[in-house]
Amino acid sequence: MRAKLVVGNWKLHGGLKANQQLLEALSKAIPRKPAAVCAVCVPFPYLAQAQQLLADTGIQWGAQDVSRYEKGAYTGDVSGAMVAEFGSRYAIVGHSERRTLFGDTDAVVVEKYAAAQRAGLTPIFCVGETLAERERGETEAVLARQLDALLARGVAALQSGVIAYEPVWAIGTGKTATSAQAQDAHAFLRGRVAKQDAAVAARVPILYGGSVKAANAAELFAMADVDGGLVGGASLAADEFVAIWQAAGAQVKGV
Ligand code: PEP
Repeated sequence: MRAKLVVGNWKLHGGLKANQQLLEALSKAIPRKPAAVCAVCVPFPYLAQAQQLLADTGIQWGAQDVSRYEKGAYTGDVSGAMVAEFGSRYAIVGHSERRTLFGDTDAVVVEKYAAAQRAGLTPIFCVGETLAERERGETEAVLARQLDALLARGVAALQSGVIAYEPVWAIGTGKTATSAQAQDAHAFLRGRVAKQDAAVAARVPILYGGSVKAANAAELFAMADVDGGLVGGASLAADEFVAIWQAAGAQVKGV
């Protein structure tokens, strides 16, 4: 069975005091050996705090982006090695907010993915269509273009990576994809990986992201190709995030 994961994306939110309360509440609720992986991707300055507060817990942590460069004159960038130094496990790459607001192209996203892997991190590779693209019937073409940019480097890159399908129209909008829409997109992505390597496709976790909440998590995670969630807004409220993580764990335990 594939690993199930629930990963929080704090985006540009947080503060030392609020983080402490949130991380302590999560640590109390999540056991050391959780059925489903639970992780939080925090702003760079809080990696040290995450490491300090989560080191002896069952919760993992990571960053929301990573530089495509390893070192040099790249003011403002943070390398994968720097993120890894704080015990991080994950780095999100290609989030739609990075793609649309900060100009990350498919090529840049793939370079960031490779940089994260070189640093020993597990990249979470985000793909997803806009509403206009969906309405024009281009969802699969967009997902194919974004995924193929990575597959062009060799399917082996996905042996230790995670894919996140995040329809742009569902991120932070309260509009969740239906479980059928999510399953269709996930099956399409997995099928495309399978054309290159069936074993990698069978193992790679594909997370759904886009207004996941406690109320819809169980239905989404019950889909055959949905292996958990990448959770934005709802990851900032401990009870809500724990309930989402429990929905993923229930799939592992088959309850
Ligand atoms: C995200 O930031 O990746 C996300 C899915 O956000 P939200 O859950 O708030 O839609």
